[in-house]
Amino acid sequence: MSGPSFPAGDYSLRNVDNERYKVINIDNEVVLTESDKYQAYTQLYKGAIYMHDAITYEVIDMNTKDKTIKVKESHANYYTVPLYGVDIEILNVLKTQPYNKTQYKFADLNVKTFIKGFKKVQFRNSQNLGFVELENPLKFEMETEGVLLQIPKEIIEQLKDYFSDIYKEIAFTLETSSQMISMTSINDIGSAKTIDENKDAYICIYDKYQGGLGFSEKIFILMPQIIENATKMLKGCRCKIGCPACIGTNNPDKEIVLWALENLSKDSRRPEFIQKEREKQLVLTKEFNLETLVEKWDALKEKFVLSGEYLSSFINNIEKIKVENSNLILFVKDNFTKSWIEDENNLKQLKNSLLFYIETPVGFNIIIKTECQENNELERKINKRYKDMLKKTDENK
Ligand SMILES: [Zn+2]
Repeated sequence: MSGPSFPAGDYSLRNVDNERYKVINIDNEVVLTESDKYQAYTQLYKGAIYMHDAITYEVIDMNTKDKTIKVKESHANYYTVPLYGVDIEILNVLKTQPYNKTQYKFADLNVKTFIKGFKKVQFRNSQNLGFVELENPLKFEMETEGVLLQIPKEIIEQLKDYFSDIYKEIAFTLETSSQMISMTSINDIGSAKTIDENKDAYICIYDKYQGGLGFSEKIFILMPQIIENATKMLKGCRCKIGCPACIGTNNPDKEIVLWALENLSKDSRRPEFIQKEREKQLVLTKEFNLETLVEKWDALKEKFVLSGEYLSSFINNIEKIKVENSNLILFVKDNFTKSWIEDENNLKQLKNSLLFYIETPVGFNIIIKTECQENNELERKINKRYKDMLKKTDENK
């Protein structure tokens, strides 16, 4: 690559952070790399899929006390996306600049990031394979700098009956545009909605480094260009109604995000959202149905194996299932497997994974039995039938 060097290049500026995490491959105890706290918390939480030197690893454990992260090679065909909340406190406004109907500010901030869990997304088709909650949610706090773009009150008024993701989508679009214009990456800046003490709402773009590294200052200067570029980006995206590339989600909100950005400069009525499209995208068409699952069990097993999900080998080992009313009965080989999968967390995960593929009736429940339990029951039933038969023959005499 030629041209000026990319600020977010090879050498991590985060080396100025003093808290370092060692990433260790548990198969050979080799330290793969070191990471700063922010990267560790947002990319290397337990269960995360992590790429290093073109090899895929799964994070097995993160120890925040001795600052080690244990990983092992993985063949998962999904990647992980953290689900986090950001809480921004405005400490001190340093500069304010008017922009058409609104204004933007440069300020010192306190940014708290909470990582509550993650979702698994399948490679290739971007299918959501389910959510995983972290046993120990992670919290990361830093003082940094950011740009606050005020959202005009009448935009908020017109969006008040809209879905909550909309501000995330506006923030995502502005963040992506900021990255392009200021030559930064997702590791350098973040975005979120926040409000100040007067209850004014802002889209905030902030430096993801303790103390700030000057990215936001640059973004403050380039803000008009960034907003303009964001609208161009939306219009130029090849999707029809919104996609992860332009608005960060699959929601059909592109038109609304575009409207909001354009309304920073001019007044117009909000377009109606495309209700039908939204419903279509929200209702997942599930491939399997509990009623017919017995015949299609092998096909479902194949899905699981291909997905590389955590429980795929467990599911793949189940030869026999039964459906009784709203109950799905899975027959496992032995008592050990039975008590392992009946562990609250495993059962919850199993249910979530199955619900992802199977259309189920109200009151859906999973029951685990051992094959031997089933055989005993069968034996009992046969014996009973035999006895009943004998009784009948006796009566007939
Ligand atoms: Zn798009």
